[in-house]
Amino acid sequence: MKTDVILLRFGEIMLKGRNRARFENQIVQQIKRVLKPLPKAELLKESHGRMYIELNGERYEEAEKALGKVFGLLSFSPAVKAPPELAALQEAALAEMNRLPVKPKTFKVSVRRVNKQFPYDTYEMHRLLGGHILQHIEGLEVDVNDPEVELNVEIRNRESFVYSQRAPGPGGFPLGSNGKAMLMLSGGIDSPVAGYLAMKRGLRVEAVHFHSYPYTSERAKQKVIDLTRTLADYAGSIHLHLVPFTDIQTKLKESCRENLIITLMRRAMFRITERLAERRDAMAIVTGESLGQVASQTLANMNVIGRAAQLPVIRPLVTMDKLEIMPIAETIGTFPISILPYEDCCTLFVPKSPSTNPSLKVVERQEQWMEWLPEAIEEAVRNTELMLVKPEQTTDEDRLF
Ligand code: ATP
Ligand code: MG
Repeated sequence: MKTDVILLRFGEIMLKGRNRARFENQIVQQIKRVLKPLPKAELLKESHGRMYIELNGERYEEAEKALGKVFGLLSFSPAVKAPPELAALQEAALAEMNRLPVKPKTFKVSVRRVNKQFPYDTYEMHRLLGGHILQHIEGLEVDVNDPEVELNVEIRNRESFVYSQRAPGPGGFPLGSNGKAMLMLSGGIDSPVAGYLAMKRGLRVEAVHFHSYPYTSERAKQKVIDLTRTLADYAGSIHLHLVPFTDIQTKLKESCRENLIITLMRRAMFRITERLAERRDAMAIVTGESLGQVASQTLANMNVIGRAAQLPVIRPLVTMDKLEIMPIAETIGTFPISILPYEDCCTLFVPKSPSTNPSLKVVERQEQWMEWLPEAIEEAVRNTELMLVKPEQTTDEDRLF
């Protein structure tokens, strides 16, 4: 028996409140996007608001994979359709039990009778469907308290749905439903994961990457494009800003105390990102920082660095261990790209002993001496390249400016 439809469930936030229409609109867009490779599949909405997908012959397995990329989707169930008639429902219920990958020992039937004209009541239907299944499958028992399988039957006006499986969706909020943020994306393991978690929380992100060409190679840049493309699988497409950072880095190296260079570099990155955020109407900065992970991520450094920006800085990984971050990178597919060995712009300028406890006053004073800094920041912003990265191969034609 083949799956006919997929019933979709959304988080509680989707069901109530003033934002419902907007959230629904956003999630509908995302579902339609991931279903594009399955042209016959159709997204439908019932009169009281529930959504489901009519597969029309497309493979369930493909749809299942695609739905794993829709934020805001809590869970979904492959279901078969049957006309609202006793014999057809008995047959569908039995077929659903027979197609379970693991044969259960216990089950129960749960009936929802939306169609009030249906000749049998819920209690009778439990007996009629349960009895039919028990007659045809040996070694199976009913357990209403703790069954291995719950067979759900929804009797509607024109058709009925029968299902027993429930696959988890990614959860979170529909993409974009909480606004837009700039993601500071290095080539490392952490920032792509931070970007994924921010998107899952309903933020549309635009990626910002600082490169030190020619000290960093074309391949280092390609690596960041590849990471962005992997994230774009969850969004349809992602804008990537490539910021030339060589000039600022070289000048900083000449003019500041060596142990403060990372702190000053990061502050310059935040300033540039904030300027780009303004330009692109984004309201936050997302980073892959994790408290205490490296010298530049002490609380003191986060404080001094974070003060370079007025926008809220969102650090989804701030309390996570590397051991919690890595499995997420594996699951979303960024890990194998992140561990490629190409140099990041910061590793080139790492001092022997970066300050773990910088003083905001000292840092600010050093910046005041650097009269060239504001103009260098403007110039980096002016020379930033913007690309639109899609899940498929990105070509030069996608370069926006
Ligand atoms: P990641 O694994 O994300 O590179 P990290 O553990 O190497 O993080 P840092 O190098 O201290 O940590 O960087 C902290 C954060 O600063 C990164 O997570 C990222 O958000 C941002 N960042 C660092 N380098 C760059 C860069 N070249 N371009 C854009 N953002 C960067
Ligand atoms: Mg890094």
